[in-house]
Amino acid sequence: MRDAETQGLVLYSRNYKEKDKLVKIFTESFGKRMFFVKNFGKSSYASSLQAFTDGKLTATINDGGFSFIEDVSEVVVYKNISADIFINAHASYIISLADSAISDNQYDPALYGFLKRSLELLDQGFDMEVVTNIFELQVLHRFGVSLNFSECAFCHKTVGPFDFSYKFSGCLCPRHFDEDLRRSHLDPNVIYLINLFQEISLDELKKISIKAEMKAKIRQFIDGLYDEYVGIHLKSKKFLDGMSGWADIMK
Ligand SMILES: [Zn+2]
Repeated sequence: MRDAETQGLVLYSRNYKEKDKLVKIFTESFGKRMFFVKNFGKSSYASSLQAFTDGKLTATINDGGFSFIEDVSEVVVYKNISADIFINAHASYIISLADSAISDNQYDPALYGFLKRSLELLDQGFDMEVVTNIFELQVLHRFGVSLNFSECAFCHKTVGPFDFSYKFSGCLCPRHFDEDLRRSHLDPNVIYLINLFQEISLDELKKISIKAEMKAKIRQFIDGLYDEYVGIHLKSKKFLDGMSGWADIMK
């Protein structure tokens, strides 16, 4: 048990007993922790502990069992994420991916920073599919998955077009297409963009314009990668998939 100060991002909260809440917070200094908040409705910092909120916590951190909050200050609320159902669905999925990717209590300030930056970009109105795809690809190695989309798995040629082979868990150049008769037959622009998304720093991300048809191909390919190599089934992803038809109706 120790008293500490740390930045923290609220992942979610749930009711606990009648009036209390458990709030899962991704802290910069101590990883993801579950905080017990007694009498939540009456606590002075209830509004600071909503989902999509980041703040500076003064807290008692316990390595076993719940941790406890003493104070929350410098609170940042991602208002657009809370207000827009589409941005909200993307942010919720990114948050649940971050939650699944590492164990609780595991120190990972890089993932905390990456998650926070992703939410900031969503909140600022960056292309939500692109931010989500970048997050999905760059968080893969925390699931133990390492894929190289920058070269042919056989001759290491770095200039495309490339196709993807699940058999070799890597890319094939046209000279090596024959190595896998069941290669993916992807649009080569998919691998080009996937490689870009895997390498790019969110701080370098400029406004990017990708046609809906290409976005759909990227979506399908990343879903395939997650099915094959990660195998998690998140409710937030299912919700997001179900939403894809809504956008057209609401336009
Ligand atoms: Zn090759």
